[in-house]
Amino acid sequence: MSNIVAIVGRPNVGKSTLFNRLLERREAIVDSTAGVTRDRHYGKSDWNGVDFTVIDTGGYDVGTDDIFEEEIRKQVQLAVDEATSIIFMMNVEEGLTDTDQEIYRLLRRSNKPIYIVINKVDSSKEELPATEFYQLGIDKYYTLSSATGSGTGDLLDDIVRDF
Ligand code: GDP
Ligand code: MG
Repeated sequence: MSNIVAIVGRPNVGKSTLFNRLLERREAIVDSTAGVTRDRHYGKSDWNGVDFTVIDTGGYDVGTDDIFEEEIRKQVQLAVDEATSIIFMMNVEEGLTDTDQEIYRLLRRSNKPIYIVINKVDSSKEELPATEFYQLGIDKYYTLSSATGSGTGDLLDDIVRDF
């Protein structure tokens, strides 16, 4: 069985930046099949010699959260259905939002492994503000800078180990 990792989260948290980083020079595939409301991007990646597929769920990323709440809900459901592992991304810049809480509520219904990622932790000074995300009632999150790649190794070590 192939391993499929979906990156979900509200607009602007940095999903596509991480997706592109994971793909590096590999080519992304745009799935425009009928029934898919917005383009979803698939790509191949590997870590420590383990191959996996990555899905970037954010083709709809425009404007504000509330207009796209329903769209986000659909995308989250599609990702949960299709993925074997889920990266749930938020960011320290904007902090924990109501939409984040709603997405997490939806994700928790699945039995799939969820990796909670706080993005835009570009330096150690963002580590302390990131602790606000414990309000979700979680034991662990990964801090990441998708822009620089820092933190991605620890995250991928754990994802690949759990396949
Ligand atoms: P998406 O809407 O979730 O796919 O988010 P994008 O990947 O398009 O990123 C949204 C914005 O955040 C862009 O301007 C990115 O350059 C920026 N961004 C993404 N990752 C990081 C990061 O780790 N640090 C900082 N400072 N900015 C980031
Ligand atoms: Mg995007």
